[in-house]
Amino acid sequence: MAGDQIWQPVATAGTATAVDDGTWMIDLGFQERSNVVLAYLLAAGDQLALIESGPTATLPNLLAGITAAGFDPARLTHLLVSHIHLDHSGAAGVLARDNPTLTVFVHPIGAPHLIDPSRLVASATRLYADRMDALWGEVLPVPMAQIAPLADGETIAVAGRVLSAIHTPGHASHHVAYWDPERAALFTGDVGGVRMPGTSYACPPAPPPELDPAAWAISVDRMRALGARHLFLTHGGRFSDVAAHLGQLMPNLAALRALAKTALLAGADHERLTSLIHDGMASHVSDPEALVDLEWATPSYLAASGLTRFLVKGGEVPTPAS
Ligand SMILES: [Zn+2]
Repeated sequence: MAGDQIWQPVATAGTATAVDDGTWMIDLGFQERSNVVLAYLLAAGDQLALIESGPTATLPNLLAGITAAGFDPARLTHLLVSHIHLDHSGAAGVLARDNPTLTVFVHPIGAPHLIDPSRLVASATRLYADRMDALWGEVLPVPMAQIAPLADGETIAVAGRVLSAIHTPGHASHHVAYWDPERAALFTGDVGGVRMPGTSYACPPAPPPELDPAAWAISVDRMRALGARHLFLTHGGRFSDVAAHLGQLMPNLAALRALAKTALLAGADHERLTSLIHDGMASHVSDPEALVDLEWATPSYLAASGLTRFLVKGGEVPTPAS
């Protein structure tokens, strides 16, 4: 890997960008934008693995990317997901159906929701309503026989490397990051934040229902202690200014939390809080295109819901009227 490049750009949707020998970034072209949702392809010998699948809505781009990297998608052997949110693993069930020998790795707390996604889909439908299908596409169950639970510290030898699962709650209780010590590479899912290429602001995505800043702070400390030289974000790509990037996550989350608390105590409704959070992101990201991408990856309205729920639950603000 190049040592001095902070950001490695991803080309257009459905293409594969080589990161190193045996690792590719696939841009899933989510909402026809670049870098908003990525998957990482790992290959060596007869093993072909993905970290993250993205949603079913972008499956054609995922398969095109695997083909562009020179591989047959029907040969996929492993899918490792950071967590079960639909932008990370929504396509797991369809991939498992189409590849009966595929094994899906997920934290034990997340596994039941891949095996039976009905509660996950119901809760997503409350958030996205009639946009569910356009955003995510079909969500199929993953057969239990194709699930391999992976708890904290467990390792998996895959595609010529050994990856460790690092349980990193905060964004979601069952979130894991995947650590490749040989390459000093950390695949951060959402707990490493969302950051668009060419920008410096790393936004902690704060959707309901499991936002937990205290747990997130511990997860960031654990990630910092690994000594990673490269961060691979699901939303934004590869960044190599590791200390600066990880160092801003908790201050940025604290700023969002303070903004939300002040606004809610002043009587802001959901729409007003959403707009304030968007303005807050805009103050850090001056490029309007990057701001659009950031909004797709971590929508202000989800952060408004997540922060409100967290603050109400903790008794820091009263329950909003509506
Ligand atoms: Zn997520």
